[in-house]
Amino acid sequence: MFEQEASATVGDKVGWRFEDTYARLPEVLFVPTAPAPVKAPRVAVLNHGLAGELGLDLEAISEEAAARLFAGQDVPAGARPIAQAYAGHQYGHFTMLGDGRAILLGEHRDPSGRLVDVQFKGSGRTRYSRGGDGLAVLGPMLREHIISEAMAALGVPTTRSLAVVATGDVVYRETPRQGAILTRTAASHIRVGTFQFAAGIGEPDVLRALADYAIERHDPELADAPDKYRAFLSAAVDRQAALIARWQNVGFLHGVMNTDNMAVSGETIDYGPCAFMNAYDPRTVFSSIDRGGRYAYENQPGIAQWNLARLAEALLPLLDPDQQKAIAIATEVLEEFPERFESYWLAGMRKKLGLQTAELGDLDLVRSLLDWMHTMGADFTNTFRDLASDEPPAGDRFQDPEFLAWHARWRERLGREGDRAEAFALMRSVNPAVVPRNHRVEEALAAAEQGDDLSVMHDLLAALASPFEDRPEHAKYREPPADDRGYRTFCGT
Ligand code: AMP
Ligand code: MG
Repeated sequence: MFEQEASATVGDKVGWRFEDTYARLPEVLFVPTAPAPVKAPRVAVLNHGLAGELGLDLEAISEEAAARLFAGQDVPAGARPIAQAYAGHQYGHFTMLGDGRAILLGEHRDPSGRLVDVQFKGSGRTRYSRGGDGLAVLGPMLREHIISEAMAALGVPTTRSLAVVATGDVVYRETPRQGAILTRTAASHIRVGTFQFAAGIGEPDVLRALADYAIERHDPELADAPDKYRAFLSAAVDRQAALIARWQNVGFLHGVMNTDNMAVSGETIDYGPCAFMNAYDPRTVFSSIDRGGRYAYENQPGIAQWNLARLAEALLPLLDPDQQKAIAIATEVLEEFPERFESYWLAGMRKKLGLQTAELGDLDLVRSLLDWMHTMGADFTNTFRDLASDEPPAGDRFQDPEFLAWHARWRERLGREGDRAEAFALMRSVNPAVVPRNHRVEEALAAAEQGDDLSVMHDLLAALASPFEDRPEHAKYREPPADDRGYRTFCGT
């Protein structure tokens, strides 16, 4: 009793305003689950910037209190922790899953009135843990923190990381590692796989309740539309097309685009074996377990469409009582994807080249540059960044006659745009100088995990927070690795 009161005070001080809207849905969609006790929680990183956006004040409590709070040891008032059920196609194979090592604390109402999911990742076993221990390791949680914060600063829709705490417990993987919990915030954690779960159990009321809830969270303006489920599917298709276009535009590889790792909100979710591409190669794959290259860079749009088809399938009973008609509706909506993706992607690429108007030849102009970059193994991030100048970029590679011919053609196209300084400013506002390059991320994680030194990560985070600024002190973060063809990322378990 006393503990309950004490914890309500911590939550009040921080400014939490919790609701339990998901926990009011049909019970089959979740299971009430409390975070497990941990030994000696210690703050690894607190995200004060994000806290401010959420109307929270983390300075109002001691670091010890913050460590307990973000280790799930003090459940704030109004929160009813649950593990969410979902299913998913993993590498194309259907499985029943659920939060095996995550617990949704509830939804916090932010100052703008929006509900934001708050979830602990790594806080112990749940009914959906199967053979797993429900725990997470410090390195991979810091990795999610770094990359999701970098994505947010790049303007890519994403879940966020509010805090990472080390638990003081040992977690056994191939070797003993430090346990950790990440506090993730999200527009929601409703996945394509959540709909697959609801459809899979064959209870139409549950499916409808989930769809209505998702509409309320993400598309409230559709709530009274006569064809609201079709409109919701179409909105989800549009968000995903926009999201994947952004990934392609910044050279981001998700790494494990299973249907349980795709949010209907259109946010990037579940940072596992993700990474940024260095040398441009459409077939780039970093994930150690993706041997067939299913989730290679060039496959991401096609996989997104495949996943959306699984969402459409799940929604069929809501689209029309007549299955043939429902399939016709779903097909029509899904067919919107390629064109929407292309148009978001090309709009993004035009900006990367400083173009604000559209001409028919632009697609070919973009493709020619990418083809040349592929042949030369040119760095994706730096090539675009360095184009924003009156001179061709420095370096032998850019003396190549094929590149010089392309450069002259681009400059001619740019001449029809008006002010060149304005075009370069546009380019510098969309082509980052700094992205979380694999070798720099690994360096920060090694210092944190093996050397107990978080300063390397904080320096990297500072550079990633303003990715469009070219600061001399961040120059080292612009250097690509010597060769990353052997680089492999692992699923963060
Ligand atoms: P992921 O590959 O991280 O997207 O996870 C796939 C599924 O495995 C999800 O249902 C996770 O909740 C579950 N999972 C991952 N790691 C663990 C773990 N250490 N213990 C229990 N379940 C896990
Ligand atoms: Mg996942």
